[in-house]
Amino acid sequence: MDLNTPVSKLFMVGAIYAKRLEKIEIKNLKDLLYHFPHRYEDYSLTLPIAWIPIGKPLTIKGRLLSIRNYFTRNGKKIQKAVVADKTGQIEVVWFNQPFLTRILKTGTELSLSGKAEWFGRQKSLITPEYEIVTASLPIHTGRLVPIYPETYGVSSKWLRSKIAPLILKSAVELDEFLPRFLLSKKQFPPFKKALRQIHLPQNQAEAESARKRFAFEELLLTHLEALRRKKTWQTKKTSFPFKFDSKKITAFIQSLPFELTSAQKKAAQEILADLTGAKPMNRLLQGDVGSGKTIVAAVAIYAAFLAQTHIALMAPTEILANQHYQTLKKLLKPLGIKTALLTGTNKKNQSGWDLIIGTHALIYRKAEFRKLSLIIIDEQHRFGVEQRAKLIAKAGRKNKAPHFLTMTATPIPRTVALTLYQDLDLSLIDELPPGRKKIKTWVVPDKKRTAAYDWIRQRIQKGDQAFIICPLIEESAFETLTSVKAVKTEFLRLKKTVFPRLSLGLLHGRMKTKEKDLVLNKFKAGKIDILVSTPVVEVGIDIENATIMTIEAADRFGLAQLHQLRGRVGRGKKQSYCLLFAAQANPEAIGRLKSMEKNLTGSKLAEIDLKSRGPGEIYGIKQHGFLKFKIASLADFELVKETQKEAQKILDRLNQYPPLKKRLEADTIGNIEPN
Ligand code: ADP
Ligand code: MG
Repeated sequence: MDLNTPVSKLFMVGAIYAKRLEKIEIKNLKDLLYHFPHRYEDYSLTLPIAWIPIGKPLTIKGRLLSIRNYFTRNGKKIQKAVVADKTGQIEVVWFNQPFLTRILKTGTELSLSGKAEWFGRQKSLITPEYEIVTASLPIHTGRLVPIYPETYGVSSKWLRSKIAPLILKSAVELDEFLPRFLLSKKQFPPFKKALRQIHLPQNQAEAESARKRFAFEELLLTHLEALRRKKTWQTKKTSFPFKFDSKKITAFIQSLPFELTSAQKKAAQEILADLTGAKPMNRLLQGDVGSGKTIVAAVAIYAAFLAQTHIALMAPTEILANQHYQTLKKLLKPLGIKTALLTGTNKKNQSGWDLIIGTHALIYRKAEFRKLSLIIIDEQHRFGVEQRAKLIAKAGRKNKAPHFLTMTATPIPRTVALTLYQDLDLSLIDELPPGRKKIKTWVVPDKKRTAAYDWIRQRIQKGDQAFIICPLIEESAFETLTSVKAVKTEFLRLKKTVFPRLSLGLLHGRMKTKEKDLVLNKFKAGKIDILVSTPVVEVGIDIENATIMTIEAADRFGLAQLHQLRGRVGRGKKQSYCLLFAAQANPEAIGRLKSMEKNLTGSKLAEIDLKSRGPGEIYGIKQHGFLKFKIASLADFELVKETQKEAQKILDRLNQYPPLKKRLEADTIGNIEPN
């Protein structure tokens, strides 16, 4: 067996367990061995029975004198046993584990770990971990016992019983793959030993030193993967040569009703330079909400059109795809560009287009992509790596690839740029178009809620419009039924008791596209005063007259995400406001929210997020397959930098390290879904 052997090949792991394990992303032995404990229970203190205190985690060793099932009054079964050593005896109690009387035979020598409590009038060991004493190392008792992330039907005990033998016996190849120079430089334990140390540590220091190795290893492999991706990309050629009359582009830019900011100009130039080069562009265009990325994309689109090729633009939601469609169609039609829309609900066969805009329906539906030279993806982090790969595969041909432009308003902390995005070139729009006013932001204490509502009412009577965003109920990439219910309830409450004279609209992701459009159009037309919504409005919506953004339970969002929500207002000339209500008034949460008041930039807020809540919060939600670090932290900037340096050194002489190369290849294959 080796690391790539499927778990189902393990003794006593059948289809049912394999399925359960898949829920925690364990498919092969590598996944299982890299399923690290999130903590350890310290049962290393072993005491004679006569000495054991109440309430302290400890281990006893003794002979099982008796074990029996008893029925409680409400029909439940409890198991009572008596265990003795030379110094005395103690009662042991379990609940609802009747099978214990079958597997634990009187007379056997047991090791039991847990706490003693008073049970009735007896000092008893309550629901301890148990293990029959044998010649081999104990794994559930008498030591630091690993506690794992669990899932339904997969307990820590079960995981231990599968992981420990893999490490203690030599049935699996666990060969070192890190270069030796690294091991000695960093004084890391070698692979097999490190696995033993992290799963079955003799003390905390052992676990810690293994943890350091695995964090280093994880980042190193991530860097190597990205660097290789970059290298491969650079060997590709563009699908089409780009020849166009740059005067036409200049004329287009000059025809706009506003002058581009210098950051926009620079970004546009960088993109145009890429487009005329021999290698396909792979560029990330990053700019705060409202910084004007769309127009920069439009310039690229126009260039591709002038080169007589096709363009696809993919957006993560229908609302956003629609909005891009409306904006770009208007902007590009005078130039002769034909634009089509392809989404889940708008799937008419499209033909005769130059630019096709859509959701991920673009990947799955039939669309003619042979002349595609430029792919633009908005908010790429919302798509999986595989989806991006599929789109490339659809448009690319042998050794040729289309140009790639990714746009995001998500501020990217340096560490993320260095790891996940290091294969991309970066264009930054770091200034807003002139004349924008700062959005005044307040964290509003709950006792001022009524006053805040009064204030909103007054502003609306003066002609403003407002968003009220209802809380995320769970951490979830998608809306759940619960959050839809919550937004409906809040909508009714606001409509009936708070703003009975105003016109309120409701928006959530489970509505049909037509209904959504209807509401949004009404809001745009000023027929709705207050739009009550789930965070679906996070991306893209552009309504100039909306000046008030109210966010409920703001403490449940990441700061970067709050910043994006806030960016829905302040799009016109009027002064805009953002009111934040917290679900919990704890000082830490309030303190974090207060950093929104100081009107910091998005990237600054993202750094704060990364430090205080970890990388999963950069995007407010945990992304599928995107930030799947098991052990390393992107908040550890030093380590990110160090591992990147090592990766760069190693990459060019990867052939000198066959085991590392093999591991890297296995990982990369594992990352690309078969279908
Ligand atoms: P985002 O970067 O969030 O996608 P958009 O491209 O939607 O921003 O632009 C936001 C708004 O700013 C749009 O209404 C757009 O027309 C306008 N805009 C873009 N660039 C400029 C500029 N240089 N001067 C004035 N307004 C601009
Ligand atoms: Mg945009």
